[in-house]
Amino acid sequence: MGLEKYEAFVRRTRNCLTYSPGWSLENRTGAWRATRPVHDAASCNSCGLCWLYCPDNCIDPSTFAIDYDYCKGCGICAAECRPGAITMEREPE
Ligand code: SF4
Ligand code: SF4
Repeated sequence: MGLEKYEAFVRRTRNCLTYSPGWSLENRTGAWRATRPVHDAASCNSCGLCWLYCPDNCIDPSTFAIDYDYCKGCGICAAECRPGAITMEREPE
């Protein structure tokens, strides 16, 4: 898209929700979640795979606690956890 077209596009969409999307820390996207990962510290071997693979970077690398303000419930952490220390539970409707 050329600059003129882009500027016209910005003028047209100025009042749209997507005009100022902000950045990920401002948008607490955890409300999108349908399932919640639950971490069992007693079964965790601290391998760090959940932290490494989490696409939202919402797992603490020291404690492996999950920040539910940002976790979208994709389940990748649970799928990568070899000892099964993370289980996915349905969020209440
Ligand atoms: S469910 Fe997805 S977004 Fe949430 S902590 Fe696990 S990998 Fe990250
Ligand atoms: S992947 Fe599982 S075992 Fe490894 S740090 Fe995360 S919760 Fe612990």
